[in-house]
Amino acid sequence: MNIVKVIVDVPASSIDQTFDYKIPERFQDIIQLGMRVTVPFGPRKVMGFVVETVNHSTFGKLKEIIDVLDIYPVLTKELLDLGKWVAQQTVSLQITALQVMLPQVLKATYKKEIVRMTSATLSDELEQLFAGRDVITYEEFTASKLPYVRLSKAVQDGDVSIEYLVKSRITKKFKTMIRPARPPHELEESMLDLAKNAKKQKQLLAFFIENPEPIEKQKLLKHMNTSNSTVNILLEKKLLDSYHTEVYRNPYQDSEIQRTFALPLTVQQAKVIEPMKETIEKNMHDVFLLHGITGSGKTEVYLQVIQDVILKGQEAIVLVPEISLTPQMVRRFKGRFGSNVAVMHSALSAGEKYDEWRRIQRKEVQVVVGARSAIFAPFENIGVIIIDEEHETSYKQEDQPRYHARDVAIQRGKTHQCPVILGSATPTLESYARAAKGVYQLATLDKRTNEKALPPVEIVDMRKELHAGNRTMFSRKLKKAIIDCIEKGEQVVLLLNRRGYSTFVMCRDCGHVKECPHCDIALTYHKNSNQLKCHYCSYEEPMPLHCPECNSDTIRYFGTGTQRVEEALTQLIPEASVIRMDVDTTRRKGAHEKLLNRFANKEADILLGTQMIAKGLDFENVTLVGVLTADSMLHLPDFRSSEKTFQILTQVSGRAGRHNLNGNVIVQTYTPDHYSIELASQYDFSTFYNTEMKMRKAFQYPPYFFLALITISHVNQVKVVQATQRFAQLLTKVVKDETIILGPTPSAIPRIKDRYRYQCMIKYRNEPDLRIYLSKILDQFSNDIRKDDLFISIDMQPYHLM
Ligand code: ADP
Ligand code: ZN
Ligand code: ZN
Repeated sequence: MNIVKVIVDVPASSIDQTFDYKIPERFQDIIQLGMRVTVPFGPRKVMGFVVETVNHSTFGKLKEIIDVLDIYPVLTKELLDLGKWVAQQTVSLQITALQVMLPQVLKATYKKEIVRMTSATLSDELEQLFAGRDVITYEEFTASKLPYVRLSKAVQDGDVSIEYLVKSRITKKFKTMIRPARPPHELEESMLDLAKNAKKQKQLLAFFIENPEPIEKQKLLKHMNTSNSTVNILLEKKLLDSYHTEVYRNPYQDSEIQRTFALPLTVQQAKVIEPMKETIEKNMHDVFLLHGITGSGKTEVYLQVIQDVILKGQEAIVLVPEISLTPQMVRRFKGRFGSNVAVMHSALSAGEKYDEWRRIQRKEVQVVVGARSAIFAPFENIGVIIIDEEHETSYKQEDQPRYHARDVAIQRGKTHQCPVILGSATPTLESYARAAKGVYQLATLDKRTNEKALPPVEIVDMRKELHAGNRTMFSRKLKKAIIDCIEKGEQVVLLLNRRGYSTFVMCRDCGHVKECPHCDIALTYHKNSNQLKCHYCSYEEPMPLHCPECNSDTIRYFGTGTQRVEEALTQLIPEASVIRMDVDTTRRKGAHEKLLNRFANKEADILLGTQMIAKGLDFENVTLVGVLTADSMLHLPDFRSSEKTFQILTQVSGRAGRHNLNGNVIVQTYTPDHYSIELASQYDFSTFYNTEMKMRKAFQYPPYFFLALITISHVNQVKVVQATQRFAQLLTKVVKDETIILGPTPSAIPRIKDRYRYQCMIKYRNEPDLRIYLSKILDQFSNDIRKDDLFISIDMQPYHLM
């Protein structure tokens, strides 16, 4: 085997294309599937993944691999195959599907260094190369022409380690450890040989005679109140020894988390867990839809299922939405499984993510809890995959490859022959319909574990408030409830359902709305900087004093931002203290956790926030939940807007009265009769499901039809229209008659960053070859894409229709 097939990091003309390269002498026996290599590609050097090794190539003269980037494969055979599957399913390039599986640090070819471990014994050649240094660049090794095996052996023996430099910062962290170099009785002898005035040295030796365990140097210096130089003298005398050891940057202090143990299950929990455990025991694949109301103990079910998997020596992947990957949630898993848990989410630094990923790769943990991309965790013996809050749209990646974590989970579940558990209080219509048909197993928890009823929801008609002369954004009822709640020393959660809302600027005289000059969308007002910003491109400008159209000075901002609600709230109820949580206040790392901790410690009466507060939070003292604008998403051009409204109202209501105190929910709306609001207030999922299914059927939407959305953009409007038309025509020729192709129409946001956007929507029931048709049509556009900056995005089962 001296030829490899490589998937290279270039937009190839065909989605499945690999390129053949020769393995040069010095990489023989080193290269394995799933390793990254650098290869020549035209005049360039590019990164690629080795996906196959073969003996013969049908191509003539082959170029050689330039470099091997990994000591161990970064992708397993299963993940390589999965990458191919993801690429096919999402009609995207295999290289992007493979890269999405890796931590950022491994996606690019960062500079590398070789670090020598202090206690290492190196081969003479390597010793010469290091020439007394602790660190050399990887290039030095390459230039030396030493056989690659020497290096990989040294890595395997733990004598050297290879590190990636991320923005000139070392990705791995080391601490220096000090330990005695000789047994205690020899140290005692040496102590006598030391000079009389070498007090500090003697103290140090005495310490190690008592405590022969290795100790971190920093701790030692502090503990013994001694200096570096004293330690160095003893190191030189070879009485002590030092070495580096890797510190994983652990953002959660495991030691501070209280251990928990399996609770005796409720009757309902015991019933739903039974078939799950059975599939695990029998190594069978199945998909369970765990439909459980908030507080019904779904998480405890997950924990006990995972317990079984761990005992079997297998691994578990748990996905939770980014937004609810709160410290509270993490603590529940770490509390049960301790350091056997890796956590992956976007708030970690690149280095931290890489650490967690390697703990998984090295099988140092059996459980990973993470957001969407954790579905690609490089486990090799998966026993269960759990997706909590399965209805969350953040499980769909809105970028190439546009995969849905649920689909990937089921694919991996089939490969590993293990169950997949989808949990939610408000499942998607797609999943619930599958469960209703028996494709998934439905498991229901309809009681809270504390036997408490769900908090009553009261709907307030804001139109009536206006008629009664109340022009504030708080109804009289909500205002009174907040005051009562605070007086009792209890706390309030206020949700500003803000999606689709923004603080736009409008002239009261002429109605002119300030729009971004590059995108057809209103600019958003940011109070702190007094700037208008575009949320689609980075354009910004100062808030104007006069209307640019009519020069009137009555230009004002409208809409309800969290900041404005906070101001209004403190005006209305001055005694209330408020913590505001939105993208602005949680941007800094750890800010999210700090704000929640402050609220948990009762440092504020009210937690005011956007969607991010609706999920998963569990505060004992919260007895009132208020929703300020329940209908702000109902009128978006999105067929899922009723479903989303139902989901968020149900989720946020579940935040009240979870413990001993009774809770109340007040929902303010201008459309109190809308079925999604009415049914959410009654917690009536099944009527909502039936009602919504009828609409979906009537308007030919999922789950009755599948969708695919083609969006084409270009700076020239005529060109976009023509390209979109041509795309639609080519597709019409090959699909079935019953398949519907809508468009070309301008996208809901017709222009972003000066590029016009047109789209085609495909609605289909059964088109097994649709993905092949699409990628073939894409091939026909490859010249326009490469040379003329035409952009075509294909989104299978889209969530964002704009
Ligand atoms: P969900 O995830 O469905 O919203 P949780 O798992 O958070 O529900 O459970 C709600 C509360 O009930 C938690 O405080 C949890 O500790 C508690 N709980 C769960 N299962 C049990 C049980 N079997 N016995 C007692 N308390 C339980
Ligand atoms: Zn004006
Ligand atoms: Zn813009």
